[in-house]
Amino acid sequence: MGGDHNDLYLHELFTPYRLCHIERLLEHDIEALAQTRKPEGPFVGSDGLDAIMQEAMQRAGEFLKCEIPSCEYRLFDEQALPMRMKKKMRAMEWGSNATIGAPIILLAAGNPLAAAVAGVLSAGIIHIGRKIRTFRIEIEELRHPSFNPHNLTITFLPETREEMFGSAIHEYTHFLQYVSTTSQWLYYSKPLGEGHARGVTRNIMKSLWDGGPAWMHEIHDKDVGELKSVYRWASAYHKWPMSETLLSAVSTRDKEEGYHLDTDGLPTKHAIGNAIFRLYEQEAGLGIYADMMRASSGEKG
Ligand SMILES: [Zn+2]
Repeated sequence: MGGDHNDLYLHELFTPYRLCHIERLLEHDIEALAQTRKPEGPFVGSDGLDAIMQEAMQRAGEFLKCEIPSCEYRLFDEQALPMRMKKKMRAMEWGSNATIGAPIILLAAGNPLAAAVAGVLSAGIIHIGRKIRTFRIEIEELRHPSFNPHNLTITFLPETREEMFGSAIHEYTHFLQYVSTTSQWLYYSKPLGEGHARGVTRNIMKSLWDGGPAWMHEIHDKDVGELKSVYRWASAYHKWPMSETLLSAVSTRDKEEGYHLDTDGLPTKHAIGNAIFRLYEQEAGLGIYADMMRASSGEKG
């Protein structure tokens, strides 16, 4: 994402007028998050994943009004790695051989997430002086579920049922973005692709709400952390008087967002995309998610 985009975001999207909207969304999300609790259930196994994936695919197809091609997926379990690799990964978490070690080890383990590491490296955020802190963040990114366009495979990590549902919808949405010629631009336009996947996941999870207080926890937790990050960034730019109350809300995204704001001067692409789609959805309705799948690159505006 270049500087031009950031200026565009700040001048055209995250204007003082819309900062008022973000404040209202944040108030809503903080209150909603307070009604939830962190999922505590056991991690889902491979058999449980099949059922979740089937439902996620079907719901995503209905919501996005599109076909649901089947896709490869698997559960990656760090515990299944040989002890030698586990030890090395653990050592790397403390900062040794950070930049070189991760792709090699994960390639050796046959993990497609190596592609994600390459992306992180080429983004140029690795600096020797910040090695330890950077590497912790990098390892966290490695530990997120992901879709790999090179082998069209989704890799899941051990998660609770609630988290796994959210991950399945999010990653399958990336798969759908990627495999359709009318939406591949969306996959490659990282902030928009991530915001789209966040919105699809939030809305489907809401519609499937199963009554438990853990169901929407991760969704609201991400929304609070990411909207706050964009709010802080755009408010500072526009010299908008920030609400300390809103900024004091706690999210597990705070560390990663804070890191990106400190080092790149920007929220994460997930946060920018999430905020864009929240605002867009408010102005134009839920139909935007299906519409985006059918916009050609010339119409993406
Ligand atoms: Zn994503």
